[in-house]
Amino acid sequence: MLTCSKTYRDIPFAHRQHRHDGHCALIHGHNWAITLTFACRETDANGFVVDFGDLKYLKTWIAQNLDHACLFNESDPESDALLAQFGQLFKAYILPNTSCEGLAKHLHGVFNPMVRAQTEDRVWVSQVEVEEDSKNSATYLPD
Ligand SMILES: [Zn+2]
Repeated sequence: MLTCSKTYRDIPFAHRQHRHDGHCALIHGHNWAITLTFACRETDANGFVVDFGDLKYLKTWIAQNLDHACLFNESDPESDALLAQFGQLFKAYILPNTSCEGLAKHLHGVFNPMVRAQTEDRVWVSQVEVEEDSKNSATYLPD
C-alpha cells in the first residue's frame, strides 16, 4: 500500500460542545487544518496515489460547507431555537459531534466515498487528521 497526504490549512469555522462544563460550551472559532491521507495499491500512470491537481472537489466541498460556518452537534438543544431566530447570521453545519474526533470521523464519511468515486475505487481515504489549532488535534483511522 502507498499513501500520500494533503493538508487544507487556515479554514476558519466555529463550533461548541454543549455538554462541556467549561468554555468549550461557548460558540468559538479556530483556524482549522484538515489532513487527508490517501491510500492505494496501484498508482496512476504518473506514479501518483492521487494527482494533487485533481482534488479541487475536496477544496470546494470544504469552502462550501465548513469555511466561515458554525458547527453544531445534532443533539445540541439550543441550535434549533438559535437558528430559527438568528439563522441569517450563521452558515450552520450540523453533524453528530463537533469535537476534533467527531469531525475527523465525520469527514472520513464525507470524503472517502467522494475519493473512491473520483478514482473508480482505486484510492481510499485511510486517515483524517483534524487540527483545531497548533496544539490540539485528533485522527480518525477506520477499522
Ligand atoms: Zn474549539
